[in-house]
Amino acid sequence: MENNSLYFNPEYECLSREEIEKLQLERLQATVRHCMNSPFYKKRFEEMNLKPEDIKTLADVRKLPFTTKQDLRDTYPFGIASVPLRQCVRLHSSSGTTGNPTVILHTKKDLDEWANQVARNLWMVGLRPDDVFQNSSGYGMFTGGLGFQYGAEKLGMLTVPAAAGNSLRQIKFITDFGTTALHAVPSYVTRLYEVMQANGVDPRKDTKLKVLAIGAEPHSEEQRQRIENMLGVKAYNSFGMSEMCGPGVGFECKEQNGLHFWEDYYIVEIVNPDTLEPVPDGEIGELVLTTLCREAMPLLRYRTRDLTRVLGRTCPCGRNHVRLDRMRGRSDDMIVLRGVNIFPIQIEKILMNFPELANNYLITLTTDEDNDNMTVEVELEELFTDDYQRLKDLEKRIKHDLKDEILLTPYVKLVPKGSLPVSEGKAVRVIDKRKVYQ
Ligand code: AMP
Ligand code: ZN
Repeated sequence: MENNSLYFNPEYECLSREEIEKLQLERLQATVRHCMNSPFYKKRFEEMNLKPEDIKTLADVRKLPFTTKQDLRDTYPFGIASVPLRQCVRLHSSSGTTGNPTVILHTKKDLDEWANQVARNLWMVGLRPDDVFQNSSGYGMFTGGLGFQYGAEKLGMLTVPAAAGNSLRQIKFITDFGTTALHAVPSYVTRLYEVMQANGVDPRKDTKLKVLAIGAEPHSEEQRQRIENMLGVKAYNSFGMSEMCGPGVGFECKEQNGLHFWEDYYIVEIVNPDTLEPVPDGEIGELVLTTLCREAMPLLRYRTRDLTRVLGRTCPCGRNHVRLDRMRGRSDDMIVLRGVNIFPIQIEKILMNFPELANNYLITLTTDEDNDNMTVEVELEELFTDDYQRLKDLEKRIKHDLKDEILLTPYVKLVPKGSLPVSEGKAVRVIDKRKVYQ
């Protein structure tokens, strides 16, 4: 039967707060019972003298232990699983820079629930089976590939698994197949647009693009607006993380007033990263997620390291699932320079306010004669190197605004468009070459 509703899963998307919380408690209790099948959690519970029956209310989630990325590494590869391996049908692994990689296992049901979350998101922003969805994510271990693939197929769209890179081919697919929706990391959209321009393709006239799902990396509201203006589309923020499944965990609705995190799938907590105590709504803290529907590998109170805040728990779109602010970045991505805490996204926000600047930038940290410094290289929208005074003046204005935001003055280097590296996956925004003193 055709779904004419505004909602993909009306029975879950439109629950009242009371109904959401009732469902969450039932699912939390079932999850905790199921975790007794995980050697890792069973041991943790025993150490804490905790029994599944101790979880009587939703607030009792705080009695549960936190889980960290280190726990995933320590139990590599299969030590947290709550089902025998023979019930699992896929794994995704992310390579850490240090130590063991992490592994996330999925049963058939887990994959189906994951696809459902992605389909729900894409439906929420108006995509329907008549749409053509192109995915420019890397396929393979990176969950943005298969995650969006199965979600878009579940919705019923014609899906183009273009995979990452090869912009000319990407553009050919967009024009030839009538792609209406594209998933891309925000830093790649700019590159794609530049290649379109260089090849005389006007996205507004020569393509049917109308919706972009952008995510997998932090980006500012200013960056989103640029993307929307460049391509003449609506760009929706998509949050995912492999430990939870991948893309699908949180997504903006048409109101674009924060990301709805699906509370029938997760318990969302925001805690102070030092004290681990909950912070009030509106205050920034670390996002902590508990899975509610996972079979292979439920995770309790997973510390994501992502910093955000609660914006609200109702929305004009009719969904009462919590709305979170765009991620400020991960606590591990925070730059500490001369005692000042800085997130790359703060710098991006300032740069994007200058129409003279293009979208690509790189922050390099160095130690020069015992002093730590920051250099912000940023591409110019157009070259006007013949006008030295104008360049100097622009540089001065950028430095001034950056100082206002980050409280110290970095070096600013204006470079020609296309001269900074572009990664195929998540953008590398910071290079730290500082000397570390023991
Ligand atoms: P991975 O598990 O490799 O896909 O990485 C997940 C991480 O990517 C998250 O914990 C976030 O730090 C980051 N991330 C994913 N989506 C977003 C988004 N929309 N905005 C900001 N950061 C994001
Ligand atoms: Zn909404």
